[in-house]
Amino acid sequence: MILNEVTYRYIRHSLKEPSPSTLAFAISTTSAPSLIIYSNNGPVFNSDDITIIIVSVRTVNNLIKMLYSTNINIPEDVRNRLLDIRKNVFSMAPSSKDVLLQYPKYFKAIRLIGREKIYHYITTDLKMTLSIFTEYFGEPPKSEQHHDQVQKFHKANLIFTESMRESRKKNLLEMLQTVYQKLNSAGLSYVFSGDIRFVSMTSVAAGLYYPKSKDIRIVPKADNSKEVVGTIIHEFGHKFYYEFMSQEKKTELHNFYVELIKNGSKTLAVDKFKAAESDSDSDIVSKYKVGQTIIYTGKKRKFIGKRLEIIYLTPTMMKARDEYEKNRTFSGAPRDFYMSGWKVEGTKDISLPHKYDTRSNDWFPTKYSLKDFDEWFAENFVFYVLGYMDNIKIKNQFAKFL
Ligand SMILES: [Zn+2]
Repeated sequence: MILNEVTYRYIRHSLKEPSPSTLAFAISTTSAPSLIIYSNNGPVFNSDDITIIIVSVRTVNNLIKMLYSTNINIPEDVRNRLLDIRKNVFSMAPSSKDVLLQYPKYFKAIRLIGREKIYHYITTDLKMTLSIFTEYFGEPPKSEQHHDQVQKFHKANLIFTESMRESRKKNLLEMLQTVYQKLNSAGLSYVFSGDIRFVSMTSVAAGLYYPKSKDIRIVPKADNSKEVVGTIIHEFGHKFYYEFMSQEKKTELHNFYVELIKNGSKTLAVDKFKAAESDSDSDIVSKYKVGQTIIYTGKKRKFIGKRLEIIYLTPTMMKARDEYEKNRTFSGAPRDFYMSGWKVEGTKDISLPHKYDTRSNDWFPTKYSLKDFDEWFAENFVFYVLGYMDNIKIKNQFAKFL
């Protein structure tokens, strides 16, 4: 998957009185800023000494609700304190930092000294993309290599958050070693390079590639499963296209893709995936019946314990979850249950094989490869690297693009 800057959770918060020594970001859906940045040394841009205040957005929002509620009687001194917090969190004047620090329940402060530390914390722990960093904080330091959370692995730099455990790092290294071996056996080990940052993401994918800053981001919880290994190879496919492919080959590849659409190969693939989905739907529907007892086998902590539940038939998953919270019953369409880890007792696993568990015979190996040119190339790259291209003509043709 390729994502652009919009996917960063925070957007720049509008400042009433902009000051070069303060900066704020907010999650797009809330009015209060969630990150306030104060420079202790001139403007925030290019500063080498900053204090970041991480605002507990939920508590601040509750506070604002409380202030505006007519049903709650707030004692005078509490009201004054709440007003004090509210005023200072929105004013973001350099002087408001000291006021906010008096309320540790709402605000956590982190002081970062040195460009490397600032860069690492903001782009990794706070997940900011590199180009947003450059826009608001100035040029990244020349290298992050001396940072204790940066580790060389083959030709790549692995960049971990401050809080990552050693055991987690070990698991991630195992997964990356599998990825490296696969690339290596396809003669593409040189693609395993650049920055690999471990950052939790709101997207469903285990990995992302940013063409602008040329880094790969991987979720810290990634495991060594076929699914994850395939996904990370997919990201290296994007990296290959953007960083290692000559303009000549790119043009050749693009013309080839246009031809596949013109000659109907893509339409055929669309029909093939539609048919497969409708088959699996009817298979699921035949096994999940209204009123039937099912067991939850998913991983959500709240649901652990393999409780028996009853299926009722109502439309959406969101509604079903709310219901579960309230009544310990759960309702949804059969496919909703199936997709979220509920199994009908006594039936064998009816899940479809994972997309990187299958082999490919045509130019559109997965449903995702239908999305656009970029994803089409990256998906074929995975099948090529894994040695899953069964059609020798396709395999040889694809090799010519590399
Ligand atoms: Zn992709």
